[in-house]
Amino acid sequence: MHKHTVANTQLTDRLGRIHTSLRISVTDRCNIRCFYCMPEKDVEFCPRDELLTFEEICRFVRAMLQVGVNKFRITGGEPLVRADLPDLIKQLHQMPGVADLAVTTNGILLPDQAAALRAAGLRRLNISLDTLREETFRKITRREGLDRVLDGIAIAQTCDFEKIRLNAIAIRGLSEHDVVPLGRFAREQNLELRFIEFMPLDADTAWQSENVLTGATLRQMLEAEFGPLEPVSRTDPAQPAIDYRFTDGGGRIGFINPVSSPFCSTCNRLRITAEGQVRNCLFSTAEWDARAMLRQGASDKELIHLVRECVAAKAPAHGIGTGEFVRPQRAMYQIGG
Ligand code: SAM
Ligand code: SF4
Repeated sequence: MHKHTVANTQLTDRLGRIHTSLRISVTDRCNIRCFYCMPEKDVEFCPRDELLTFEEICRFVRAMLQVGVNKFRITGGEPLVRADLPDLIKQLHQMPGVADLAVTTNGILLPDQAAALRAAGLRRLNISLDTLREETFRKITRREGLDRVLDGIAIAQTCDFEKIRLNAIAIRGLSEHDVVPLGRFAREQNLELRFIEFMPLDADTAWQSENVLTGATLRQMLEAEFGPLEPVSRTDPAQPAIDYRFTDGGGRIGFINPVSSPFCSTCNRLRITAEGQVRNCLFSTAEWDARAMLRQGASDKELIHLVRECVAAKAPAHGIGTGEFVRPQRAMYQIGG
């Protein structure tokens, strides 16, 4: 077969955005219930036989590698609650062409799994940490477990990962007292911290723009404590985070500002939900059914065609804050953040 048979072109949309990054959700289940993501009670999870198997995920990834997608992030729900996750990591890690593979986790199960994930070939880990206070952790997650997250971070730090990053969501009226302690923790632990603005993807649909602590506000709070932050020039133009370095040598800190400063014009991401629906945006209101294709024995060419249709339909921007904005029907845990 000629090597350019199927692929030969990348996944480019109407605006010229080339899609090279795929977020793979492996479950919609989670062991905590963050209010900005999941409902507190009566969560309806996807039946297990509707989840893509590891074999199906790998098949999809192999097809995507043919059209230039080479960066992958495993997410959820909480990816570490999916049984045997290290087996999937191992298979993906060994695939020729995978340039980047990362996992985003809430950290609760890291004490048990960090070593196995690292041994399976995972080099990059993002751990969500919004607070260092148990009471606030309980308010946010409606569960206990901050101690396990902190243990998970500590254990992961002994496992020789190339990069461990912390992700934090800051909410007005709740997180103001967490911002500086989180900054200090990251500096002391030599970890990069990124704040992500709260987006209207909460299952409870309580999001209001007034609750968003913007990246600019957070930066001011941090600068008041730690002194000036100096912008770090971007190496990857599709990277949504705006990174800074502490001028006193205390490392880096970043801000992902999808609400106050959308980065849609350079977005290169696609997503596949745990049940195999391909999405061109977190805020997409349509999905393309890769699972049906995978289960009907479709060829790589057909799978790629499906994804091309999804990419071609990508909206120029999410439109949050405009009259045209429509919330997606799914919440964050059902999409894969
Ligand atoms: N359970 C894992 C975790 O929490 O890290 C992975 C999935 S979670 C959906 C991925 C990321 O999305 C987390 O960093 C979480 O804080 C973030 N997230 C969840 N809901 C969000 C929202 N409404 N707005 C912004 N970020 C959100
Ligand atoms: Fe679970 Fe992550 Fe959603 Fe929190 S943000 S409820 S940890 S999936």
